[in-house]
Amino acid sequence: MRFFTSVYIILLAYIIAAIVFWEMSLQKLSSRIYDQEVLTLKSRVDSAYDPYTYYRQINSLQHKHIMRRTQYVQEGGAFLVVILIGAVVVYTSLNRRMRLSRQQNNFMLSVTHELKSPIAAMKLNMQTLERRQLSEDQRKQLLDRCIKESNRLNDLCNNMLLASQLEGRQYKQARETFNLSEMAEDCINDYAARYSRRFEEEITAGCKITGDKVMLQMAINNLLENAVKYTPDDLPVTLCLFKNTDGIVIQVQDQGPGIPDSEKKKIFNKFYRIGNEDSRKSKGTGLGLYLTSKIALQHKGRITVKDNAPSGCIFELWLPLS
Ligand code: ADP
Repeated sequence: MRFFTSVYIILLAYIIAAIVFWEMSLQKLSSRIYDQEVLTLKSRVDSAYDPYTYYRQINSLQHKHIMRRTQYVQEGGAFLVVILIGAVVVYTSLNRRMRLSRQQNNFMLSVTHELKSPIAAMKLNMQTLERRQLSEDQRKQLLDRCIKESNRLNDLCNNMLLASQLEGRQYKQARETFNLSEMAEDCINDYAARYSRRFEEEITAGCKITGDKVMLQMAINNLLENAVKYTPDDLPVTLCLFKNTDGIVIQVQDQGPGIPDSEKKKIFNKFYRIGNEDSRKSKGTGLGLYLTSKIALQHKGRITVKDNAPSGCIFELWLPLS
């Protein structure tokens, strides 16, 4: 990208220098034409003999000269502005394309890792179960790990499937009225069973909503998954659900590293992950929050993120009641 930018700037500078050079040459040429015209006039009309005709024609030549110079400046300026606008448009669109292709590349790397690592872990656990004589407790532990890994795989496949369906506008959004409080309760219970860490909840009972159950469950799970992934194991993750005047608010609070203000908008972009592939410790695909924001939009709601105190962040999904 840096090489491309340097070559682009050099080319642009060359074009601008060429335009300026041609502009100056034209101005010089115009002055030479004017001088030539004055000489011809002097040879034709004697200023002492017929000053009126002479000064009238000189004035006309001067006027023509000024008009010619102004025309060159205006045309050169317009050309320069068009070139600069074109250059900015080309640069921003190329830049966007290159960024997207880099993110897609990172996505492929992450997805390959995300798909391979649970498969490898399940295979290892199952081989251990097959080859070794284990106690009941050990067998249960290995089976639990297999279930956890297959859940991870399932979540990832669901996210990828929904992303491509939403992209191709193939997803048919269901509309049913259901108890969102019960669903949130189920999500947090599921996470409490999957992870040995502290989960807290403040869920107002009986909040009903009309929408797509599968999508909304996925949105809550994505937020919980991130909170678990980016928060140290000894700190709690909290899920709150309550009604406000015109909608239902779902909050997932964590006490992890938080999200810098400069990244708070970008994290909802497709494939966007904070940092780069080398510096990132936690694995992911950059799809979770993109999908969650799409799901909020499909329900005419919105998702925002703010800082938690003393650390971490609060993701807030607001869904309208009607
Ligand atoms: P993934 O987690 O698979 O990378 P997401 O779209 O879910 O993708 O999140 C995008 C990025 O936002 C993550 O890579 C991470 O850097 C940041 N992020 C999301 N949730 C949190 C959180 N709870 N705490 C800190 N950073 C987060």
